[in-house]
Amino acid sequence: MGEKEDERTSQAGQLFENFVQATTCKGTLQAFSILCRQLELNLSDHRGFYSSLKAAVTYWKAKGLWGKLDKRASHKEYSKGKACTDTRCLIIGGGPCGFRTAIELALLGAKVVVIEKRDTFSRNNVLHLWPYTIHDLRNLGAKKFYGKFCAGSIDHISIRQLQLMLLKIALIVGVEVHVNVEFVKLLEPPEGQGTDGPGWRAEVRPADHQISDYEFDVIIGADGRRSTLDGFKRKEFRGKLAIAITANFVNRNTTAEAKVEEISGVAFIFNQKFFLELKEETGIDLENIVYYKDNTHYFVMTAKKQSLLDKGVIINDYIETERLLASDNVNQEALLSYAREAADFGTNYQLPSLDYAINHYGQSDVAMFDFTCMYASENAALVREKNSHQMLVALVGDSLLEPFWPMGTGCARGFLAAFDTAWMIKGWAQGKEPLDLLSERESIYRLLPQTTAENISKNFEQYTIDPATRYPNLNSTCVRPHQVRHLYINGEQG
Ligand code: FAD
Repeated sequence: MGEKEDERTSQAGQLFENFVQATTCKGTLQAFSILCRQLELNLSDHRGFYSSLKAAVTYWKAKGLWGKLDKRASHKEYSKGKACTDTRCLIIGGGPCGFRTAIELALLGAKVVVIEKRDTFSRNNVLHLWPYTIHDLRNLGAKKFYGKFCAGSIDHISIRQLQLMLLKIALIVGVEVHVNVEFVKLLEPPEGQGTDGPGWRAEVRPADHQISDYEFDVIIGADGRRSTLDGFKRKEFRGKLAIAITANFVNRNTTAEAKVEEISGVAFIFNQKFFLELKEETGIDLENIVYYKDNTHYFVMTAKKQSLLDKGVIINDYIETERLLASDNVNQEALLSYAREAADFGTNYQLPSLDYAINHYGQSDVAMFDFTCMYASENAALVREKNSHQMLVALVGDSLLEPFWPMGTGCARGFLAAFDTAWMIKGWAQGKEPLDLLSERESIYRLLPQTTAENISKNFEQYTIDPATRYPNLNSTCVRPHQVRHLYINGEQG
């Protein structure tokens, strides 16, 4: 009897370990499905899923993780997972912010489905993490999924590692994830059937995917900088011309590589001598440069147009940035040399070999992006009503507020918005008046672009989805309900 029990514990432990250690998106989903099948876990019981998994996986290594997740789940805001029991959410996009939002909504007890159009996590690029994000991820068990997570003074992670870790946590807390499913558009509830009739649904690609039957009352756009959700006006911040280059080189983890110092962008912006010498020696003219040692050697730099022209990276000079950076106006070989030379100089020629890592397309991982125009959504949320069905629509992450990569604000502000959105959805589930809800959300959203690692609350241990725990100078009524009437879109009224 005892032996059989031991065997079962160890088999469950092994299956769970395979899932925890999976290194790809597909591998994770596969290991998860085997785990659920073998342990006879009921995936459709999203609210009870985490407890059943915990009861089935009792080996010592998992216990630490359960302890952390239990602690998180005990926040009073979640009302023991009963705050949003009747809420059904669809999240578009499995980037870091989509998954981070999904985890919060699952902890609130909502049914959460994430659709992601791809089935690979391939971005080598590295995200800067603010101290609170490191704390947040540690508390979700980050180190169990990625042992090297933010060791010592490291404060960054590759996008794909972060996606992978958050995917695993989301699955554990009962989020349903579908890859290779692309959101196309919203489908209105049919006419004449009232509240008992079918509700809001989504058109997806492939069209016959089971998710096209899923009805929800909350939809979240977490699909990156080019959000597909209708109804949100975008504000444009037009700055001076800003061309960013990202480059990833193979990290062979040798002692020589380990010795090379990272470059934190903020410190370097003020180091004029460095940029002058770089220009004199190489002809490369940069405004800033960041170097993080991660799975790859990752560099992001902002280059001045003239030096890109002089070095033959950009072929012809055009006023419109889109034309300027169009692929037929960029000499890829020259771009590879430019970024490599800058990386070599920036690290004082100490990196032994600067071989490019390979990107998703099987090519050397270098890219050039235009940040001259940065976008932010004018509003963070709206409510649609059609044929007696109300639906809350919200944006998070880059869809809401586009980050400037060399400053690395994307994930930090993205997570704050994920929490703020979860807070709003809790209010939605409690039956708060739509205009009150929307005005509160807009009031909080006004703070987001001003947040820095320094001006948010320092008491990370107190952080919850309640905005008051995170923003020291919160005024959640600065936008009044009458100012957000346009965000309540009643389809019946045309
Ligand atoms: P994203 O990470 O962009 O995730 C959006 C997800 O939605 C993607 O997985 C996408 O496949 C999916 N998706 C899109 N449309 C649909 C659809 N219709 N249906 C279903 N799924 C959809 N930030 C930095 O600080 N430094 C960098 O060097 C850097 N490099 C980047 C390179 C690239 C190519 C991209 C796209 C972004 C980069 N960023 C970088 C931004 C950074 O990745 C984001 O700030 C961060 O990942 C949080 O964004 P997010 O979760 O909101 O969106």
